[in-house]
Amino acid sequence: MSIQKIGVAGAGTMGNGIAQCFAASGHDVVLFDIAQGSLDRALKTIAGSFDRLIKKGALDETSKQAALARITTTLDLNDFKSCQLVVEAASENFNIKSQLFKDLDALMPAEAILASNTSSISITKLATVTQRADRIIGMHFFNPVPMMALVELIRGLHTSDATFTTIEALSKAIGKTPVQVRNNPGFVVNRLLCPMLNEAIFVLSEGVASAAEIDESMKLGLNHPIGPLALCDLIGLDVVLAIMQVLYEGFKDSKYRPAPLLIEMVEAGLLGRKSGRGFFDYA
Ligand code: NAD
Repeated sequence: MSIQKIGVAGAGTMGNGIAQCFAASGHDVVLFDIAQGSLDRALKTIAGSFDRLIKKGALDETSKQAALARITTTLDLNDFKSCQLVVEAASENFNIKSQLFKDLDALMPAEAILASNTSSISITKLATVTQRADRIIGMHFFNPVPMMALVELIRGLHTSDATFTTIEALSKAIGKTPVQVRNNPGFVVNRLLCPMLNEAIFVLSEGVASAAEIDESMKLGLNHPIGPLALCDLIGLDVVLAIMQVLYEGFKDSKYRPAPLLIEMVEAGLLGRKSGRGFFDYA
């Protein structure tokens, strides 16, 4: 199936980046949110992101205006009816996503594909609320979407080969590198990354080294562009904890237990950059 018009549900951090990538690659985009403020902020963010590309010489003003003209915003889900694909990027909450998938399943044409950008919810489980489990897939982009090349394509138990190949081709058409991932907790990147971040927190709490020394070690010893504790602060300690809990619950394996210090810092509201303090101070 050829995909020209794409709905994006949720215009937050990820939704606006996803909408930008589709529009920049020549697709018509309908961007939906339940909050007008999110839609207004999204359009500003996208325009700002295009301006940075112009400054770098990677885009010209005409292409920017053409891409922006391909994006329409709406508070009405019915405006998705003419789309061949919807990518859901609403808040990470099963009740919100399952209601959206139920509503989309009822209103979208039978052949339309529904994708979710969820970081942790089972694609197989999401598919059960619809009558089109073969046309449900995970499209897990990385933040910031316009900069990051990877998209994990998550196959639920019922995702068809046709759905996968259509979304794989689309991912390549927008300049991303897709990898095929079987539905499982944390997919690939978060499954590998978060236990490493969690271990860095154990190392800190055991007094093996200071936060600055742990980060310096991983930057200079492994050429990581950012240390694990600074990365926790950037991602948000609440998000890291939520992913560790998904891994722990999903695999029932003690190797994924969240570090007690991580739990305590989240309880104390020390969430990293967004709260002004995490392992480092941003005041
Ligand atoms: P966000 O909080 O920035 O944006 C969420 C948006 O969803 C908000 O604008 C909110 O108004 C909207 N929303 C809430 N309920 C809705 C509904 N019923 N219909 C439509 N819109 C609704 O969140 P985000 O960081 O953009 O995350 C979105 C999704 O992307 C989540 O599933 C998250 O797990 C996933 N994700 C996030 C990142 C990241 O680094 N932030 C990375 C990969 C995947």
